[in-house]
Amino acid sequence: MPNKDVVSWTSLVTGYARNNHHEEALKLFCDMRLAGIHPDHVVLASALSACAELTVLELGQQVHADFVKSGLQSSISVDNSLVTMYAKCGCIDDASRVFDSMQIRDAVTWTALIVGYARNGKGKDSVRFYDQMIASGTKPDYITFIGLLFACSHAGLLERGRLYFASMEKEYGIKPGPEHYACMIDLLGRSGKLVEAEMLLNEMDVEPDATVWKALLAACRVQGNLELGERAAKNLFELESKNAVPYIMLSNMYSAAGKWEDAARIRRTMKWKGISKEPGCSWIEVNSRVHTFMSEDRGHSRTTEIYSKIDEIMVLIKEAGYEADISFALHNMDKEGKELGLAYHSEKLAVAFGLLSLPRGAPVRIFKNLRVCGDCHTAMKYISRVFHRHIILRDSNCFHHFKGGPCSCGDYW
Ligand SMILES: [Zn+2]
Ligand SMILES: [Zn+2]
Repeated sequence: MPNKDVVSWTSLVTGYARNNHHEEALKLFCDMRLAGIHPDHVVLASALSACAELTVLELGQQVHADFVKSGLQSSISVDNSLVTMYAKCGCIDDASRVFDSMQIRDAVTWTALIVGYARNGKGKDSVRFYDQMIASGTKPDYITFIGLLFACSHAGLLERGRLYFASMEKEYGIKPGPEHYACMIDLLGRSGKLVEAEMLLNEMDVEPDATVWKALLAACRVQGNLELGERAAKNLFELESKNAVPYIMLSNMYSAAGKWEDAARIRRTMKWKGISKEPGCSWIEVNSRVHTFMSEDRGHSRTTEIYSKIDEIMVLIKEAGYEADISFALHNMDKEGKELGLAYHSEKLAVAFGLLSLPRGAPVRIFKNLRVCGDCHTAMKYISRVFHRHIILRDSNCFHHFKGGPCSCGDYW
């Protein structure tokens, strides 16, 4: 097309975004701005939702600024995308500011905030906003309940969780899906009610999927219930035959119970089936560029500085009382090797780079593809305290806000 107007650009950007090609959508959006085309509501909402999915905060903030400068009237679709983008990037206060400024809100607005608070370790706020949502006459939907039940399980609100779960179908005609069952099983498991969790699982009228069995397996690990854990793991072996996590979890449960033979057998099966753990990887956005780190990564252009920063961090946090938890290290090494291996985990490299390259006092935001390991979680607490930094770590499960020591997840993630 020799002449592309805002509609042509918008169609393409929105098309890419809706088909989960978020990077392409954002590249096109930037090209559109470079071509001097003024954005409309539709393209802004699409660009913001692409930023949300990729959790690229700086770019999201730029699109927000673009919107403010454009002089466009506010619209519910853009505002909803803003709330979602900030919540997904771990800036729940900004999400809530946009929410407060909105004249009209719909189920998407409320849900974005409820899910956002839940993922950012503020389950009690999720519940509070849910009550307000109902009071405002807005009907919750399928996703609202995922956020709400996730919030209840992470905040340990057993009674509330039970009530909400029961109200789904009775009051709102929403049939609970696997995600809701998984949250409930998680909540019951955390509260030590494994029998009830298993009963709930047996009540499901559809076949439980992997999310549900994973929740049960995690609950069994916490409660040390090997028998039920074996059953959950076996189902997962069938449903997700290439996933290493259930193998590792079951093997760890055997080790914890002193059943070394069984633990070794699981490890052998893994090896024999060619199943290996997905490599851990963490990334951090600095000056609109994403820097990615693998464990013991030496590929970054500032590797030398990063490794000496790690050394400095280790000395300082050890002085403050940190002790490496070598149970999270690889097995085939001596104690010192294990400690070093832990120190070079991807999230620690990312935090070292963040401390090196971000302005003093700026929050350090890190993302990880897998669940953060227990040792890194402890180390982050000390780093946030010793370096006076707000560290926000989003792993595959939730956000961890480390401020002055403790973590928003309450050590349960
Ligand atoms: Zn780690
Ligand atoms: Zn945490």
